[in-house]
Amino acid sequence: MKTQKLSAAEKRTYSVAVVGGGIAGYTAALTLKNLRVDYIWLGRKPFGDKLLLAEYVRNFPAFVGNGAEFAKRLDEQAEKEGVLFTEARIDGVYAGDEFVLTENGEMLSAKAVILATGVESAGSCKGEGDFLGRGVSYCAVCDGALYRGKTIAAVLSSKEFEEEAEYLAGFAGKVYAFCLYKDPAFKAENIVLCEGVPTEIRGDMRVRSLTAGGRKYDVDGVFFLKNSTPPSALVGGLLVENGAVKVEKNMATNLKGLFAAGDVTGRPYQYVKAAGEGLTAAYAANDYVKSLEK
Ligand SMILES: Cc1cc2nc3c(=O)[nH]c(=O)nc-3n(C[C@H](O)[C@H](O)[C@H](O)COP(=O)(O)OP(=O)(O)OC[C@H]3O[C@@H](n4cnc5c(N)ncnc54)[C@H](O)[C@@H]3O)c2cc1C
Repeated sequence: MKTQKLSAAEKRTYSVAVVGGGIAGYTAALTLKNLRVDYIWLGRKPFGDKLLLAEYVRNFPAFVGNGAEFAKRLDEQAEKEGVLFTEARIDGVYAGDEFVLTENGEMLSAKAVILATGVESAGSCKGEGDFLGRGVSYCAVCDGALYRGKTIAAVLSSKEFEEEAEYLAGFAGKVYAFCLYKDPAFKAENIVLCEGVPTEIRGDMRVRSLTAGGRKYDVDGVFFLKNSTPPSALVGGLLVENGAVKVEKNMATNLKGLFAAGDVTGRPYQYVKAAGEGLTAAYAANDYVKSLEK
């Protein structure tokens, strides 16, 4: 499949931006391509990690095989249909006359957005949502500089985030690192490897402590470095209920022009549901963009 880095993508206003590289995002992008809509499909990796993990996919119509084989078939289809994937980890979606999407200071805009960012339970702990913007962050590059000389915690869901923890260590006085994977390794001397899974964040107006493995760590901030950013952290004002983005039948959210599809809208967490919602969201986003032209 054709892929490009965000740095190579045209920074202009697209009709529809799809955020999320999983099957919901892919189906939305494929549908938009077929509808001849001007789209950009953004994500960390085409088809995502979850698909590759599935040992056997038994419930997707007409498919027999494991996740890696499924991803290969999707890749062949995307190649044939000319779907373009743009590698990016979007750190903010801002609603206005148009939507502005950002990644590490790079910026593009779109008339409509389809959020297909999946769910990730790794690293979530009590208080995480309550202290969002008051010490809890998901983006080292965006917020790292706010913690110059301070003590922070970083909860890493996989090895690929070690670079971001090192980046944080460049600002912070001390970084307590909680690594939810095997064999972590850091170069910075102010990163302290900690045992245990974080269970609770406490504080008052701001984060004051993190509890993990039965021990309380006094911290000024907690960075969750993981593949999926919770939707409410990504898009201000988005209505989320019990962790799932609230959607209408056509996948519209409470924000005009913003649609959501896949695991991000709630259970059942399954490929067929994600693909179906991706398709529905693509049609609805196209209708929305057309309605703006009238
Ligand atoms: C081990 C395992 C086995 C499974 N087996 C099956 C099965 O057999 N059958 C079945 O139906 N379902 C199965 N599932 C569930 C299935 O994987 C999910 O329902 C499906 O992947 C949901 O697709 P999605 O596109 O909504 O989200 P995801 O596949 O999670 O994709 C979302 C993508 O968006 C990316 N993303 C998140 N935030 C951002 C951001 N800010 N910027 C850019 N990209 C971002 C994520 O990194 C991810 O790649 C399995 C899941 C697991 C974990």
